[in-house]
Amino acid sequence: MTQHFIVIGNPIAHSKSPEIHTRFAEQTGIDISYQRQYCPVDAASFTAVIEAFFHGGGIGANVTVPFKQVAYDCCLARGGLSEHAKVAGAVNTLLLNKTLRENGTPIAEAIYGDNTDGQGLVNHIMSLNWPLAGARVALIGAGGAARGVVLPLIEAGIASLTIANRTLSKATDLVHELSAASPTIDKQQIDTCRTAELNGQFDIIINATSIGLSGDTLPLSEALNCHYAYDMMYGRPLPFLQRFSARGAQVSDGYGMLIGQAALSFERWTGQHIDVAKVTQTLLNH
Ligand code: NDP
Repeated sequence: MTQHFIVIGNPIAHSKSPEIHTRFAEQTGIDISYQRQYCPVDAASFTAVIEAFFHGGGIGANVTVPFKQVAYDCCLARGGLSEHAKVAGAVNTLLLNKTLRENGTPIAEAIYGDNTDGQGLVNHIMSLNWPLAGARVALIGAGGAARGVVLPLIEAGIASLTIANRTLSKATDLVHELSAASPTIDKQQIDTCRTAELNGQFDIIINATSIGLSGDTLPLSEALNCHYAYDMMYGRPLPFLQRFSARGAQVSDGYGMLIGQAALSFERWTGQHIDVAKVTQTLLNH
């Protein structure tokens, strides 16, 4: 029987998720339909769309811009949130809470939220064989993407974290909020600074800003260096990666993170393991 999935967003026409999940289905031999779902930008419409989807027998949904926080609020009031979603304050993966359903909770009240974005990044970095355990990491940016990655990075055993942001107060607020949300995050172990003031030698530097969308470049210190540089953006030349590559660092864009977070959603829904490297290669060859 065909299993139904959607990705909800606005805009949504550009989403690569159907193509990616179709590859996962081919690899696992599962019969799926995965559609793009447009939704007007208001919480009531979002709730109506997902309730109708799960009532209609849908198995799982991905959530993308601008609905990740709306999805968080929705699940908080219904079937609950994973630890990663709670700490991220955002949801990218929806499914039904099995325990609640077995106890007779109505479908609309049993919608559960997870967030696989941060773990998708960590899995990609590990697949590149970049040493995360014990690493000194700098994370540039303090928006939604940065928020989602802090707990998975700490769980991966990094030695220290510096969060740099154009607006310093957003970085310091983020650290306070994250440490209040999770006992695993110790604010004493996270430094903050302005992006332009970030300097010294790091093992890994991750760009979690949206600057790649604007064509601008980050104001980085001449004294900033690393062994490995990662940009969450993908699909275009990235000055951030060019800078560190020219200084001898290994670099990667965020395409593997995109596939990685999708694979974790698929695994959550179906219980089937995905060979991410194989799917990534297939997609890059098309
Ligand atoms: P947000 O809008 O929440 O945050 C944007 C961040 O970028 C803020 O920290 C902001 O700083 C900073 N920023 C924006 N413009 C500039 C600039 N000109 N100079 C310096 N800093 C700047 O975005 P998200 O966190 O949601 O997304 C960030 C990036 O991550 C996007 O490019 C997105 O595509 C990518 N992403 C990739 C994923 C993947 O699977 N590969 C998954 C999720 C996100 P300030 O606080 O000062 O405004």
